[in-house]
Amino acid sequence: MAKRLEGKTVVVTGASSGIGKATAIEFARTSPKDLKLILTARRIDTLKQVAAEINAEVGNGVKVLPVKLDVSNPKEIESFVSSLPDGFKEIDVLVNNAGLVKGVAKAPEIATEDLNIMFNTNVTGLINMTQAILPIFQKRPEGGRGDIINIGSIAGREPYAGGSIYCATKAAVRSFTDSLRKELIASRIRIIEIDPGQVETEFSVVRFYGDKDKADAVYKGCEPLTGEDIAEVVVFAAGRRENVVIADTLVFPSHQA
Ligand code: NDP
Repeated sequence: MAKRLEGKTVVVTGASSGIGKATAIEFARTSPKDLKLILTARRIDTLKQVAAEINAEVGNGVKVLPVKLDVSNPKEIESFVSSLPDGFKEIDVLVNNAGLVKGVAKAPEIATEDLNIMFNTNVTGLINMTQAILPIFQKRPEGGRGDIINIGSIAGREPYAGGSIYCATKAAVRSFTDSLRKELIASRIRIIEIDPGQVETEFSVVRFYGDKDKADAVYKGCEPLTGEDIAEVVVFAAGRRENVVIADTLVFPSHQA
């Protein structure tokens, strides 16, 4: 697998924490030779720390580029692609991971601001990133080459009370991903979806607007997955022979079955 990923250029959105950070580290550990990693998120200082961690662990074979990028802002996506430095322009893998949930509330009580943040990040942001990177894949021979790996959620398959908007965003990701895969059927562009179940990350802290006690309570009495568990699946999917598409995968902790 490491050989197949050699020399690749990989973009991870939401790489400042949780699953995205773990994914960046897993790519670097698995295939450090000539890997180019573009780490994006809004917190640039945190991204720089992640880049330093990767360099400290795997050395200089990996080139890491931290870039401040809010995926909910289409102008930032445009300028992200147009200002990629030489050596990082030929993207091979896009991991659309950036995402969040805001609040737990019944549908009539959901603040419009939270609704917009969730859709603009989880859905429009993911679609805009895909539209921005696909032309790089499509200009390659034989209908194109490259991987788009979308991080959905079990919530897109099994909606729950109090999470209607978040669940709807992840169902939209699922639907978009399936359509896109069908549109690109004749190419070597792989469209992959990985849907995590419960993973312990900053996700719940964001959900409860920074209330750490409420966030911690979510994980009491159960054994959630770690970001690394999902990262391993992402890197496994990207490292398959190019005719093999790990199209659609649900990964959850055993207590959630
Ligand atoms: P974290 O909160 O740890 O990570 C979310 C990441 O997304 C952060 O790096 C954050 O960075 C980034 N992000 C949020 N908004 C934006 C934005 N507008 N632009 C760019 N980056 C953004 O949570 P997880 O690692 O758990 O979440 C990662 C993905 O996994 C999400 O799509 C989530 O929906 C999904 N997921 C998580 C599950 C879980 O139980 N944890 C379960 C199922 C799916 P920054 O704040 O620096 O911008």
